[in-house]
Amino acid sequence: MKRPNIIFIMADDHAAHAMSCYGSEINETPNLDRIADEGMVLENCFCVNSICAPSRAAILTGKHGHLNGIKTLSDRFDGRQQTFPKILQAAGYQTAIVGKWHLGEGGHSSPTGFDYWNVLPGQGDYVDPVMIKNGEEVQYKGYVTDIITDLSLKWLQERDPQQPFMLLCHHKSPHRPWIPSKAHASMYSDTDIPLPKTFNDDYSNRSQAAKEARMRIECDFNYIDLKLEPPTGVSEWTSIVPPEDLDGFSLKPAESDEAVTFSSHRELKEWMYQRYIKDYLRCIASIDDNVGRILNFLDTAGLAENTIVIYTSDQGFFLGDHGWYDKRFMYEESLRMPFVVRYPKEIEAGSRHNAMALNLDFASSFLDYAGLEIPEDMQGVSLRPIFRGETPADWRTSMYYRYWMHLAHHYVAAHYGMRTERYKLIHYYGEALGTAGSIDESKEPEWELFDLHADPDEMKNLYHDPVYKDLVQELKTELYRLKDEALDFE
Ligand code: CA
Repeated sequence: MKRPNIIFIMADDHAAHAMSCYGSEINETPNLDRIADEGMVLENCFCVNSICAPSRAAILTGKHGHLNGIKTLSDRFDGRQQTFPKILQAAGYQTAIVGKWHLGEGGHSSPTGFDYWNVLPGQGDYVDPVMIKNGEEVQYKGYVTDIITDLSLKWLQERDPQQPFMLLCHHKSPHRPWIPSKAHASMYSDTDIPLPKTFNDDYSNRSQAAKEARMRIECDFNYIDLKLEPPTGVSEWTSIVPPEDLDGFSLKPAESDEAVTFSSHRELKEWMYQRYIKDYLRCIASIDDNVGRILNFLDTAGLAENTIVIYTSDQGFFLGDHGWYDKRFMYEESLRMPFVVRYPKEIEAGSRHNAMALNLDFASSFLDYAGLEIPEDMQGVSLRPIFRGETPADWRTSMYYRYWMHLAHHYVAAHYGMRTERYKLIHYYGEALGTAGSIDESKEPEWELFDLHADPDEMKNLYHDPVYKDLVQELKTELYRLKDEALDFE
């Protein structure tokens, strides 16, 4: 049988609830929905560490960060290790990665296992980005999402049509600071985006970790994030902390001649949300258009039937949910990855599956489709039966999560936890444990338990409720079983 081609398109920080096939109430994504309509939506796809580099390394290796070496943003990826692109390349696949790599650019951290790689250094730029093409710096002109798509299409056109291919098309967008293309710059300008229902969360009934996190819409953006003119003598990287007295407090949008003045915190917070979310959604609109270009190319080139097309994101994001932006926490908005897949030969059009899938599973899935053996040390399992609409009897019913970077960014405390279909147990263990990129400050350890059926928005921590005492014990036993199974002994 002819081996399938693979196109894996991954955005950076695109939350599932900003995709219409996941029921978004704030935007429409017709081209991403097209993959869903012609393929499958995974309802419960989760990352095992909700942050860029660790998720990317987990995807490439099929292993947790403590085994692949990338637990944090400060670790460097050892490109000598086993990855699925290397295995596919050795098996005769033409392999390429275009766009965001974010696992280091020099020495052993350059992409390995790719015939062609053309990646952004670090976070890369939204406009006129420099990229590293097979080791050589090249300056491009234009908007990054368009350029990544142009380069991907060019590689597809120039490939050897006799051999199967695997393309990783990794967008930088919609990562902070959310700079839209000119084409989408005025989208949503005469409309307001609805507020999420937990927008005014006051973090009562939650951990100190949630209360202390510095990712609040009302005060933790900086002037670059919101494209504002900083007052004289203030750096554009400074957080915009609203003053106690809002009388006469104003902010000046970079594109406007007039400052905006606020009369209440509520007004200010909602204004900041609109400013943020509109740019975020404009960035996604550009991705959506560009994914449409790839799908059209596959149609024109007669490749749609035999190509597995996936769209996902390295993790989720808070879109004003709980009054936040950013990710890191094991809470649903951040934990959940969007994941749509099309492969007409095996996947029923318009199907959805609620089995628990992990970013660890992607590597095994690709090897399975390529007819290759899945190495024993990969920690994920192939999603192929799930894509076929089956649910194997021994499919996982719980998953393990760990965020290592104690207090480093946005003051989010390190934690590990487990999720079942109904419950989530999180432990903030309160120590840096010598982890790279962490702040060595001890916190009182704390736990959270959520009943996702009764409380899908995770607004009420049930951990201290005596009614749940036995359940907590049961879930802790499972948490430590999962931790051991993941070979995480720290
Ligand atoms: Ca990310």
